[in-house]
Amino acid sequence: MEVLAKYEETGLTPEQVQELKERDTAKRPIKTTDETGIKYTDSYRCPNCGGNFTGTGIADYCYHCGQRLDWSE
Ligand SMILES: [Zn+2]
Repeated sequence: MEVLAKYEETGLTPEQVQELKERDTAKRPIKTTDETGIKYTDSYRCPNCGGNFTGTGIADYCYHCGQRLDWSE
């Protein structure tokens, strides 16, 4: 509830608060087979915004939307 209160102080709507909570919940990146031009590197897609990134465990958060990422197997 403390976390919720913090969000409320920012003046966000309940929908936005929900969105932030969702984004702060780690989600597994979606492995893709897209051609990235980078060999020997896996390619992943953000489960939230669909943004691409390569490599494993390179970022705790999506570069594009800030979605928290879960790299555990
Ligand atoms: Zn994203």
